[in-house]
Amino acid sequence: MALHIGVDVGGTKVLAAEVDADASVLRTARRTTPGRRVEVAVLEQALTEAVLEVADGRRIDGVGLAAAGFVDPAGERVMFAPHLPWREDPVRARLAQRWGTSVVMDNDANCAAHAEVEHGAAREFSDVLVITLGTGIGGAVVLGRRLLRGRNGMAGEFGHQQVVPGGLACECGGSGCWEQYCSGNALVRHARARLGHEPTLLEEPCGGDPGRLTGPMVSAAAAQGDPVALAAFASVGDWLGVGVANLVAALDPEAVVVGGGVSAADELLLEPARAALRRSLVGAHHRVVPRLLRARFGPEAGVIGAARLAARATLRDLT
Ligand SMILES: [Zn+2]
Repeated sequence: MALHIGVDVGGTKVLAAEVDADASVLRTARRTTPGRRVEVAVLEQALTEAVLEVADGRRIDGVGLAAAGFVDPAGERVMFAPHLPWREDPVRARLAQRWGTSVVMDNDANCAAHAEVEHGAAREFSDVLVITLGTGIGGAVVLGRRLLRGRNGMAGEFGHQQVVPGGLACECGGSGCWEQYCSGNALVRHARARLGHEPTLLEEPCGGDPGRLTGPMVSAAAAQGDPVALAAFASVGDWLGVGVANLVAALDPEAVVVGGGVSAADELLLEPARAALRRSLVGAHHRVVPRLLRARFGPEAGVIGAARLAARATLRDLT
């Protein structure tokens, strides 16, 4: 059986996965990435280790790289990535040479959209937006089942729309960006601000140190009904609905599909988001409000889409 591996390179972690033709994940490997402050060589070493762990000595037929950044239209370079160290860097060719196999690369949200349109929650829709909530926000626009790429290949970077003039500083260099209020980072910031002020289950996993608090800790506490964690999800969900209302006003899609690590919280996130969408959307009482759905593949949508793109590219090379 051919071995196609997807690698999702996010701001805090790398996830590599072997994915079969039915979009099932057969084997995974994870590494942490210390964000944009790390050397490129350190990041690429983490990717390499994750890929080799999944391959486990087998010959690799192709790797698909889902990068949390702006990828050029040719899929050769990462032009800019607020949470990663690559800058106008020909990443694809370098990693193809290092790994001795064919490599394809696209933006992580585009990869997630590919998986969801082909195999997942977006399969029955023609016009759909895909949003990935991880360290930041990734986005993809699918119109008539085709991905909108734009002049620079950067269409769908919704996370850096300014929603609060003069608001929180963003890693992109701007301020008040949507992802500062609606992302894994926003979730943690929200919970952190309440630590030490209210009784919460979050005290224990982080040892009372707000600096050690992580998104998965907030998710775990929310699942147990912790009020501080639930309030953090309510806030992020509310901001999600407000931002989605703006996107729907512009593009009027049939559905909006939400993936990325934060989407694992499912209805804790989507319920407040749907309420905010109905509240904020122009003409909400006089139109069909689009469905707001969790990605079928949840946090794995990006890695699955990347592996499927690699499989498709291998097929193209053979014929
Ligand atoms: Zn920004």
